[in-house]
Amino acid sequence: MAARDIGIPVTPPSRECADPKCPFHGSLPVRGAVLEGTVVSSKMASTVVVQRSYLRFIQKWERYERRQSKLSAHNPACVGAEVGDRVAIAECRPLSKTKKFVVVERRAPEGAPGARAAPATPGSAPAGPRP
Ligand SMILES: [Zn+2]
Repeated sequence: MAARDIGIPVTPPSRECADPKCPFHGSLPVRGAVLEGTVVSSKMASTVVVQRSYLRFIQKWERYERRQSKLSAHNPACVGAEVGDRVAIAECRPLSKTKKFVVVERRAPEGAPGARAAPATPGSAPAGPRP
């Protein structure tokens, strides 16, 4: 069974799986936002916690503040994201109370191409002006 085209320019996983909630081998449609983040936990079954760092502009001070948020995302067996991976997550229908995203691609961590085991340093967002 070949991987389905999910309509997002990502590399399909080389492995196959029998997960019905897999966008490539199951029947899960993806639509909406596509985000990138770092996996910080993979302790739940078929679920990973993805952390995103971003900058938010404070108008009064004309400076940026660093913010972080965590999202739960479904982790199909064929993708198999692990702690420390940079991943692309795509929005999908609600899969559980907190899961509304699915991991669609593993990307090499920033600054270390190919090195998957090295966890990304927290706060690796682009350097903004200090408060
Ligand atoms: Zn799959």
